[in-house]
Amino acid sequence: MRIYLDYNASAPILPEVAAGMSEVLSLTGNPSSIHRDGRKIRSLIDDAREFVAGLVKSTPDSVTFTSGGTEANTSAILGSIKSGVVSRALCSEVEHHSVLEHVAPSDRIPVNADGILDLVALEERLKSIEAPVLVCVMIANNETGILQPIRDICEITHTHKGLVLCDSVQGPGKISIDVNELEVDFLTLSAHKIGGPQGVGALIQLSDTQLSPILVGGGQEKKRRSGTENSAGIVGFGIAAQYLSKFQHSNELLELHFRLEKALVDARSDARIVGNGSVRLPNTTCVSLPGVPSERQIMNLDLAGFSVSAGSACSSGKMERSHVLMAMGLEAEVVNSAIRISFGRDTPWADLERFVEYWASL
Ligand code: PLP
Repeated sequence: MRIYLDYNASAPILPEVAAGMSEVLSLTGNPSSIHRDGRKIRSLIDDAREFVAGLVKSTPDSVTFTSGGTEANTSAILGSIKSGVVSRALCSEVEHHSVLEHVAPSDRIPVNADGILDLVALEERLKSIEAPVLVCVMIANNETGILQPIRDICEITHTHKGLVLCDSVQGPGKISIDVNELEVDFLTLSAHKIGGPQGVGALIQLSDTQLSPILVGGGQEKKRRSGTENSAGIVGFGIAAQYLSKFQHSNELLELHFRLEKALVDARSDARIVGNGSVRLPNTTCVSLPGVPSERQIMNLDLAGFSVSAGSACSSGKMERSHVLMAMGLEAEVVNSAIRISFGRDTPWADLERFVEYWASL
């Protein structure tokens, strides 16, 4: 039996989600059609919009469904530049590639050794650029789980008339997110990180700023994102969001996290937990085992029945040195031997215990 410990790459789909999606797939109709078949699907999408908004305490009108976190990030960045409200985007050096690729290397703000954005460097950069910019910072890092001080970032950025995009793809279900407290201008989500399907996400727009749409055509999603909606995917996203709204505070995860990290360092005194001085997601552990390359750990673990990752999942299947760990200034030995374990509230302790036992023998 396999043990899946790669929830940050993609969490297992919830049974309620699969059942709800299969019902939608059995329906016929385009949600833009005005006949009864179309209206039925439209009303299911409207319900999903409410559930997804509720997950982050926002309003249904703020939600634009997209094909995932990548498209949501891209739409916020390119859409705000295209509309002229910002001149360009800045981001932290540890962002996901869907953000990083839009930002010039000189506009990437460093993080400190704890993985936290350097607020002084951010302010200096903002002062040096006269026109308003979009500052893109993730709520939680997908590789290390380290959380960013989003409110402080918003305060600094807003003082300089900039806007903030918060990539919250890794947040829901692990930490509670309330857009009213965060004060961000845009927030992005992805369904497959929370037990929903792959290929659907959302851009939550919180400021009055008008973004120029990146996809134009039929005018769906209030002209913000054209293209016939992924109805089954959106409904699945809604069901996952509704399910998660019940579990915002995750003591089960915290308990598992604490036990796992203690077991790892007890089993191997040479192991190092990356970011253990920072506030982190309660489901993510990045651990390095100096002397045992990440690839070797992952391949051996895979053969033994454990699914874990090194850094971010890469479409080519090729592993590159993590830009996140390098940005934190970690020694090459740590970067080259780090793996990520990410789990869910349904992960039994026995699975983590078996993992530690095998990993410690590597
Ligand atoms: N942002 C972060 C922090 C992520 O971890 C990911 C996916 O791993 C994405 C964005 C992209 O989301 P999607 O896979 O839905 O395109």
